[in-house]
Amino acid sequence: MSLYDLDIKRAIKKIKDLDAQVVGLQFPDGLKTHATSVARQIEEETGVTVIISADPCFGACDAADQKMNGLVDLLIHYGHTSLPINYSTPVMFIEAYSQVTIEDSLKESLHLLHDYHKIALVTTTQHLHLLEDVKNYLCEHGKEVVMAHGSSTRTGQVLGCNFSSIKNLDVESYLYIGSGNFHPLGIKLFTHKPVIIADPYQGEARDIEEFADRILRVRFARITKAKDAENWGVIVSSKEGQFRMDMARTIKNNLEEKGKSAVLIIMDNVSPELLLPFMDLDAFVVTACPRIAVDDSAMYKKPLITPQELEIVIDTRKWEDYQLDEIFFGQ
Ligand code: SF4
Repeated sequence: MSLYDLDIKRAIKKIKDLDAQVVGLQFPDGLKTHATSVARQIEEETGVTVIISADPCFGACDAADQKMNGLVDLLIHYGHTSLPINYSTPVMFIEAYSQVTIEDSLKESLHLLHDYHKIALVTTTQHLHLLEDVKNYLCEHGKEVVMAHGSSTRTGQVLGCNFSSIKNLDVESYLYIGSGNFHPLGIKLFTHKPVIIADPYQGEARDIEEFADRILRVRFARITKAKDAENWGVIVSSKEGQFRMDMARTIKNNLEEKGKSAVLIIMDNVSPELLLPFMDLDAFVVTACPRIAVDDSAMYKKPLITPQELEIVIDTRKWEDYQLDEIFFGQ
């Protein structure tokens, strides 16, 4: 049995309702191993032809609708919730809720939450269905729980670039349900408050504090190094959900006003290999996914920074006002 609810029944119903003949399938990397069995099942039960997208996929900002436009009647995109983007092909989003049990990690999180009474509950798509139960559990253990919905996100949901659901919450700490450090780091950098992770896959709870300190030190080092850069590359992603050309042009102007040279570079996936030929550039600003600069930093030899970090470099923002970059989809 899969660890995720792939909800093939719902997919099949949609295919039949639309009378689709050709269907695209797209999965984030962590779910791609399910692609062929889902494709086979859908083909057997509906008679459609399925085309699987093998390209990397990190979010609903990165749906394969444009690549599959004209090829498929429906794209089924797994693992993310829809964003207010004008998708060029009909797209069905299936959350792929995780079936993992949360009890052990939740129990352990109570120790780390001991000193906090008012807690905000946060998670990503895969665990949204657990939030009410987790809330009840915390309330039974004397906590006051806050959850809010954000712009383009559901109640209690954050994206790596969208923390609107936790903006200005009057709480003492955050409890994040899920795995990895990617999202809790974002919550920490966004709120500057304690963030505890209840990781159901590891069956443990941990504090993000130390990891976040380490990342902030790395960011400080990159910003400091970038202050010496004369020749800049300003990166724009061609992915529809990450395309911020206006912002990139403003950044280029700002750099030029400071006496620096800057070129615009457009690419689909940002990767160290693709930047290698631009040997004469000293540093890069990324207007694509805000998390590339922060999370993939070690992969790049030259400083790769966010637009907000550039403001620190050119002295229009103070380090004390460090802020994560966010994308406001559909605006
Ligand atoms: S821009 Fe980055 S963080 Fe935001 S949804 Fe896309 S992949 Fe996730």
